[in-house]
Amino acid sequence: MQRLPYEVKVKRAEQRVHEFYDEIVNTRDKRVHISVGGLDSITLLYFIRGLGYSEEDIPAIGATVLEHKSIRKIHKQLGVIPIYPDISKHRIIQEYGFPVISKAKARKISLLQNSDSEKQTFIHAIMTGDMGEQGKWQHSEKIKLPDKWIAKFGGNYQSHRPDICCKCANFKVSSECCKYMKEDPCDNWAREHNSFPYLGLMASEGGQREFALMKNGCNYYGKEVIRSAPFAPFMRQDILQLAIDLKVLIPDAYGEIKRKFDGTLYTTKAQRTGCDICGFGIHLEKRPHRFDRLREENPKAWKYWMHDVCMDSETGERYGWGRVLDYIGIGWNDVPGVQMEMSELYDLDGGAYEDTGSL
Ligand code: SF4
Repeated sequence: MQRLPYEVKVKRAEQRVHEFYDEIVNTRDKRVHISVGGLDSITLLYFIRGLGYSEEDIPAIGATVLEHKSIRKIHKQLGVIPIYPDISKHRIIQEYGFPVISKAKARKISLLQNSDSEKQTFIHAIMTGDMGEQGKWQHSEKIKLPDKWIAKFGGNYQSHRPDICCKCANFKVSSECCKYMKEDPCDNWAREHNSFPYLGLMASEGGQREFALMKNGCNYYGKEVIRSAPFAPFMRQDILQLAIDLKVLIPDAYGEIKRKFDGTLYTTKAQRTGCDICGFGIHLEKRPHRFDRLREENPKAWKYWMHDVCMDSETGERYGWGRVLDYIGIGWNDVPGVQMEMSELYDLDGGAYEDTGSL
């Protein structure tokens, strides 16, 4: 369906929205809402409003507080109901670990960081790709962590890969951040309101979403999960075209939507946004990357997140994303033209940056 023409995908998306509403509201007598974050789901909100559904029919909610300030501004203009997590991001990082590389890889790395994991078969599969008896002795490159990450994080299980010199990082990695910061609070709201979400997910984004959307389709009524993802077959070009057609307010974090010579649409700043301070996908981003942008926009917050957000339980030393990025080989402390004295990054009284703001 990803190969269908844009107009057909839009028409089908309209049908999916109506069908989900009809099933949940008219047949099951429950409610529906739109879960709003970045540009894709902001476009979904415009799309659904354009079909005639009001804020009363389908309210919009979002973990707004975590988004870039330009996105927060637009959420407010669009009447998105803000949902707040119970725990702060720095506590998540301190207690669980840094969200880095990708959700799936972070999960595997966090298992490798536990030196006596009960999931020994899975550990072996992560280290080698060999799935053992349970996996009918098959080999899976998808389950295996790439060797470059095994070398960085596989130290506790060196014996599984004697061919690589495996190390352990002196920071924790976790895939759980989104769950505590976004998913649980939004799920709780949905449960309290007996409501099921419209999501702006697209299979073309890849990862675990791709698999789930391909398997379950746009509207899914499962035992545990009920949701509508009307844009599931959309490609990036479709969502940008739709944003243009619906005259969506584009948050400054993305810049503007423009067209290249060959007709391809793109956003002039971020192609994707998540939270300001997130390490998922950072290894794929060109510089200036998101941490560089934060440095330009808010040097004090940058200082806090790069140097101070965590305390090393063994040495008492404060550290942050700087340690993580150094370890995985991402530059961050040398932005040309943005060189700063460390003293500039502290308050005048020399105290460390304390205001973590919405983060
Ligand atoms: S996008 Fe990144 S930083 Fe934000 S909640 Fe999810 S994992 Fe955490």
